[in-house]
Amino acid sequence: MLVILDPHVSPAHRSAIDEAIRGAGCTIAETPSRRGLLLVIDGDLDRLRQIPLGVFPGVRKIVSLSKPYALSSWEHQAEPTVVNVGTTRIGGGHFAIIGGPCAVESRSGLLEIARAVKEGGANLLRGGAYKPRTSPYSFRGLGLEGLLILRDVGQQTGLPVVSEITDPRHIEACISNVDMLQIGTRNMSNFDLLVEVGKSGHPVLLKRGRSATIADWLLAAEYILAQGNPNVVLCERGIRGFDPLLRNTLDLAAIPAIRGLSHLPVIADPSHATGRAAYVAPLARAACAAGSDGVMIEVHSHPERAQSDAEQAMRPAEFRDLCEDLRLLLQVRGGVTRS
Ligand code: PEP
Ligand code: MN
Repeated sequence: MLVILDPHVSPAHRSAIDEAIRGAGCTIAETPSRRGLLLVIDGDLDRLRQIPLGVFPGVRKIVSLSKPYALSSWEHQAEPTVVNVGTTRIGGGHFAIIGGPCAVESRSGLLEIARAVKEGGANLLRGGAYKPRTSPYSFRGLGLEGLLILRDVGQQTGLPVVSEITDPRHIEACISNVDMLQIGTRNMSNFDLLVEVGKSGHPVLLKRGRSATIADWLLAAEYILAQGNPNVVLCERGIRGFDPLLRNTLDLAAIPAIRGLSHLPVIADPSHATGRAAYVAPLARAACAAGSDGVMIEVHSHPERAQSDAEQAMRPAEFRDLCEDLRLLLQVRGGVTRS
């Protein structure tokens, strides 16, 4: 249940409200919101419903929720969320094309790729500086140096930048150098990290955990939203399937499913979903046709030299063709509507 309070509620009225809620065996989590001061209530809601909370001075509105993900659901907000990332908007009909290498490898290499993806049609540049790798012996990114290169190349090309954060201790370095923080699949359930990016207020790209249900994923988003950070974009990047031929299985149905459940924008990452460059374009087109608010695509000017995820990197010319297809598809698809 959500209880929306007048932000200027007096301390005495506020105590009366808290006492009534706690007295009914419920817990209160407080978060600032555009609509006032928001209390997310959990616990014995049937008992709480016996109390006429709506007549307490200072209570503006009570929203009964049928879903545990209170803040991301349409029951909380009727308009689609639009997230501003630098000059790029995502959601509510604004389509993001995020292009760039898996990892920042060098200044000159990133600049070459950034110029190519911008010319191709990207409106955001990606590049990992802190790379969570399955093997500790793989290239794990340039760290802070990578972030600084990304920031400079973003400024040089006029593209806002997104990069993964893997550790709450990197929050200052990340928010001062990138426009959007990515939470990768391995960290979707790193709740301390989610709280930290929530507190930052910075735009967040929240990837779906490899074996997370849609409800798990929305609850992870809830951790960020509950800190008063509404700037969350969800990213379907494939879930673990049983077939070893492809890296993952892109859950296309998750796109309309999220649309039905949540006002948050949802994009797709067909690069990590398939692991093969040849399959990226068809799935990016499919995700767009399914109503996604964007795509994230790994691009490298020399995939044969890439230090991570070489097999799934598109070449700039392929990326440009894909962007053209997406433009045409977007014309056919029209606005994104709630299903
Ligand atoms: C990435 O975007 O480079 C990445 C590591 O993604 P994921 O967390 O989806 O594997
Ligand atoms: Mn990658």
